[in-house]
Amino acid sequence: MARKCKGCGAVLQSENEQLPGFVPKSVIEDTTKSDIVCKRCYRIKNYGSYEPVEITSDDYINEVKKVVNDSNVVVFIIDLIDFESSMDEKLLQIIKNRPIIAAVNKIDLLPEKKHPSETANWVKKRFAEYNIVPFDIAILSVKDDYGVNGIVRKISYLFPNGAKAAVVGVTNVGKSSLINGIIGGKSKVTVSKYPGTTLKAIFVEHPDKNHTFIDTPGLIPKGRASDLVCEECNLKMVPSKEIARKTFKIKEGKVLMIGGLINIQVVNTGEFLPIFQAFAAKDVTFHETNEIRAEELMKTKAGEFIIPPCEKCSEKYYNLKFIKKEFIVEEGEELCFKGLGWISVRRGPLELVVTMPEEIDAVIRPALVAPKKY
Ligand code: GDP
Repeated sequence: MARKCKGCGAVLQSENEQLPGFVPKSVIEDTTKSDIVCKRCYRIKNYGSYEPVEITSDDYINEVKKVVNDSNVVVFIIDLIDFESSMDEKLLQIIKNRPIIAAVNKIDLLPEKKHPSETANWVKKRFAEYNIVPFDIAILSVKDDYGVNGIVRKISYLFPNGAKAAVVGVTNVGKSSLINGIIGGKSKVTVSKYPGTTLKAIFVEHPDKNHTFIDTPGLIPKGRASDLVCEECNLKMVPSKEIARKTFKIKEGKVLMIGGLINIQVVNTGEFLPIFQAFAAKDVTFHETNEIRAEELMKTKAGEFIIPPCEKCSEKYYNLKFIKKEFIVEEGEELCFKGLGWISVRRGPLELVVTMPEEIDAVIRPALVAPKKY
């Protein structure tokens, strides 16, 4: 049987350094070694370096489909901070008729601590919008080891004789971290901040229970702002620490810039100025200005003090086509920009004209962080 990399699941090979699973010939031929990782995983783990490989979206989808259809239960991981990207249509199509445990990860990043049951209720309602009823909803912070054992307990309750659990989700939601959290000290799959680290399904046995967890490759979802910038900016936009929250009461005609990606112009404010809060990773700049200055800043200061992009940002950013979209966001609602953050309306309605790349998806949803009284 072909030997596989313990970190990303790719079949080990020593023919082509540019393809997944490359290791020097001497390593493959050494039959005394069992826990081999490929060169790419070795570099990600030891040097934190990014090593892109060419895998198509269809390859990913086919690999995930195979694993899901061959499993008893799907652990569908969602990043609470980027819920809208996590609910990717292609993935939902694959899992919707399977038993699902929705594992809502990264609650440590929310600036306002919510009771897990409150978050679970919000998630349940959001799943209902997609006509999906999960078996169970688990609230997690894999980083803080919160809720990880609960997932194993839920699976043991549903499948006392053991189960094959497919761990599924878009890139960067924490699939590999969860599996490593579940298996504890055993040889680990590669966790990285870079999307597309896991390439093939990786089967991992639970040390005590009769369950097999299968780490699957993550799909890069459609419409995510963090995928439109260079790798360095991508890392800044995917928060690793609690996200920033700032309150705004902006006059008609004024603009809030969220990095160099989103310009939010407030229109038609009426008797009371609307109040809203903006949420994004701490490295993303919020800047309040007027319409003319905002356009100027976008052109001249993006990468300087309007971040992201950065000064060395990729062609991808500089070739984006910006368009204008109108939104009316009611009090208690949020306007989310996938892969970037959201604004939450505390006193509304808030009428907006947003200048944004046409590639970013924007979604209005019920508030995740409930409004405070003013
Ligand atoms: P995968 O692509 O879904 O397998 O995601 P990974 O397990 O590789 O994790 C992606 C990134 O998210 C890494 O930088 C992890 O350290 C981070 N991460 C995973 N779980 C958590 C969590 O509960 N909280 C926080 N703050 N970061 C997490």
